[in-house]
Amino acid sequence: MNKLILILTGLIITCSVQAQQKTENLIIVTLDGMRWQEVFGGVDSLLIVNKKFTRDSASIVRTYWSKDVQERRQKLFPFLWSTILNQGQLYGNRLKGSNVNVANKYHFSYPGYNEIFTGYPDTAVNSNDKILNKNINVLEFINKQKGFKGKVAAFTSWDVFPYIFNEARSGIYVNADDTIQSGNVALKLISDMHTLSSRPLDVRPDVLTYFGAREYLKASHPRVLYIGFDETDDFAHEGMYDQYLKSAHAEDAMLADLWKLIQSMPEYAGHTTLIVTCDHGRGDKVKEEWTSHGEKIADSDQIWIAAIGPDTKPLGEVKKTKQYYQRQLATTFAALFGFDFKPDQPVIGPIESIVGK
Ligand SMILES: [Zn+2]
Repeated sequence: MNKLILILTGLIITCSVQAQQKTENLIIVTLDGMRWQEVFGGVDSLLIVNKKFTRDSASIVRTYWSKDVQERRQKLFPFLWSTILNQGQLYGNRLKGSNVNVANKYHFSYPGYNEIFTGYPDTAVNSNDKILNKNINVLEFINKQKGFKGKVAAFTSWDVFPYIFNEARSGIYVNADDTIQSGNVALKLISDMHTLSSRPLDVRPDVLTYFGAREYLKASHPRVLYIGFDETDDFAHEGMYDQYLKSAHAEDAMLADLWKLIQSMPEYAGHTTLIVTCDHGRGDKVKEEWTSHGEKIADSDQIWIAAIGPDTKPLGEVKKTKQYYQRQLATTFAALFGFDFKPDQPVIGPIESIVGK
């Protein structure tokens, strides 16, 4: 009898925890190495007139410049600074007392994505090599929960993600810079375009990664979808500030397109959360370090997070927050569904204001 009461109490507690959350679907998007400086400040006044980094200054100034910082950032990221500003939350404007940092000491991609998805800044994860990740990630944890099996997918431009997510072990669908095996006409077309593209950055162009994810969402209705964009980091390393900006702007437009689609689909509208972030920051324009990142590049541990969804109160640009860390995203993703992500590796609690606590 006691056992029965315990089980029933357990069930009631589990149900009530989950019932508090309105999120039924989650979309996560990352812009690789996108600096918070542009997210919150728009285009940089010095870099856009520096011929070394911006070939056609006149056109960039015309398209993205304004003396007013709010207008300037909205020109570069119209979706972030309209829809998310009005209905969601944006963290990471250090000029307004909102600091978000990576907790890992490496400040480059694999350690960053490992931290986002496993919640643990593991010192053993210290290269971008194709090494299978030993840490359990939150996507595979969610995929094991009731009602989520086979409903978790990732589309990425970079081909290291099958290792970061340990695809074979985790059992989630990861399409990373790869052909898309599908009878769906749109997905087949996107896959063919990718196969025949010139691959200017030696990875799948972000727009094709996006279309793959979008058409997969329409066809397969995943409950958790991750989209990993790549171009911003590659163009920044090349010192092509103009193209870095254009890619950032295009990805903002893809976010707007995706959010519009979400609102048009009854199974997603009103109970889907979108979280946008990055794997690492970059250096400052001083010493021209904005092109780079890593242990030796000051400030490249500084990141940002944007969130919108039914559990995320419309706080807009969040100011004077406590210090947040990238590793909190893993537990935040789980908590949005009312799940407690407690893997073998050590993790810390979620960002409660995103979860709605
Ligand atoms: Zn990089």
